[in-house]
Amino acid sequence: MSNPTWAQLTNLGVAVLFILSLKALSSPKTARLGTIVGAAGAVIATVILFFTGIELDNLAVIIAMIVIGSVIGAVSARRVKMTAMPQMVALFNGVGGGAAGLIAVVEFLHAKDDATALFWIFTVVTVIIGSVAFSGSIVTYLKLQELMTTRPVVIPAGKWVTILVAAALVVFAIWGIIDPQFWIILILLALSLIFGVLFVLPVGGADVPIVISLLNALTGLAVAASGYVLDNVLLLIAGTLVGASGTLLTTMMAKAMGRPLTATLFGAFSGTTAGSAGPGSDRPVRSSSPQDVAIMLGYADKVILVPGYGLAVAQAQSTLRELADLLAERGIDVDYAIHPVAGRMPGHMNVLLAEANVPYEQLKEMDEINPEFSATDVVLVVGANDVVNPAARTDQSAPIYGMPILDVDTAGQVVFLKRSMRPGFAGIENELLFDPKTTLLFGDAKESLTKVVASLKAL
Ligand code: NDP
Repeated sequence: MSNPTWAQLTNLGVAVLFILSLKALSSPKTARLGTIVGAAGAVIATVILFFTGIELDNLAVIIAMIVIGSVIGAVSARRVKMTAMPQMVALFNGVGGGAAGLIAVVEFLHAKDDATALFWIFTVVTVIIGSVAFSGSIVTYLKLQELMTTRPVVIPAGKWVTILVAAALVVFAIWGIIDPQFWIILILLALSLIFGVLFVLPVGGADVPIVISLLNALTGLAVAASGYVLDNVLLLIAGTLVGASGTLLTTMMAKAMGRPLTATLFGAFSGTTAGSAGPGSDRPVRSSSPQDVAIMLGYADKVILVPGYGLAVAQAQSTLRELADLLAERGIDVDYAIHPVAGRMPGHMNVLLAEANVPYEQLKEMDEINPEFSATDVVLVVGANDVVNPAARTDQSAPIYGMPILDVDTAGQVVFLKRSMRPGFAGIENELLFDPKTTLLFGDAKESLTKVVASLKAL
């Protein structure tokens, strides 16, 4: 089938929109615009399909499904909590991979007798990658939603079972390309689904979001391959963009956590996955009142605020900004220190603080702010733990060992706002909590900050 010229030109325009969208998404200032531009491109790409003269069977069903899918997508995206965003991404990504895989199965049935070898290769590849992305994403969703354990799951002889399934996949894939038969496609579908589960089960704790990013890249590749199968250039371009950006994001996240990607993916097989046991502790700590914290902050010359996952849970971003504004009004030098993996997804803190209209210039990245901690009077750590844990520097047995951290421990005084002595995501104790220069203000971050703000106003 060949598209009319106007449709080809529109597709070219849509491809440009996708690229501009990605560009805009790379900065918090323009990210919202980037989402709208990308979504507009996707809508245009879908709508023009109905006017290009392609024969569409089951038109009513197609339109009904688009409406149902759009309603489910829009409602769940509006309702999802900021902290549950990674599992939402996992679920939507899985659906994308699954759709690409199913389309390839259907296209197999519609294949012409004179289909080329390349057609069969891409069909087989789409089925495999799409199905792996689907089942893998569903398992990551279950883990992040805590519907199953978030710890690595190691099945007996798991490594060998995985290798066996992978080898069977390769054999059937080659067979399916040389002698395309529907039963082989069905076997490939089943094996790929099993492989996706085996691939993600041993990944645990802090490594799960990296795997989501990798599966996202795989979905992009599956969609690109389905673009070849369906003879649709736009799918090829969009899929390649997702594949490339997903791969970059995966390697950047692994780097930010100081772990090679292989350790993330195969860590459980060798016993080095992040997120192991979480010890409780009865050791004494220094806790304090909101009034005392207000005095410490109010009479400092330089304060650094360190936001973490707990800030997102408490939705305390606006109260934190109010505190920062009050301190600035008192002539105190205030900055926000942003760790690349603070929170539960890349850029989590930037997005959260942008929501509270914190000027982007006040957000300082780790490398820029780290030299400043030693000249800082008070660091206020709001719902962060792993990203300031010195064990990443000193304790070779710690799952976060090697991850670059914010050098909070070099500051004059450190105040932690958290609810309990529970550890962070990686499940390990933080020595800094027991340091003589550390003060803890226990309670929900929003409530604590509100009290500190009130006390500061009364100073
Ligand atoms: P952590 O998970 O280490 O710590 C969060 C802290 O917030 C805990 O100490 C918790 O203590 C506290 N907290 C939770 N809820 C509240 C609340 N309502 N009020 C006050 N405090 C609260 O978070 P970090 O941001 O420091 O570290 C992020 C972790 O996530 C790292 O391990 C990182 O590797 C991982 N990760 C992040 C990714 C990303 O892209 N951002 C990707 C992959 C992994 P308590 O329960 O006592 O209140």
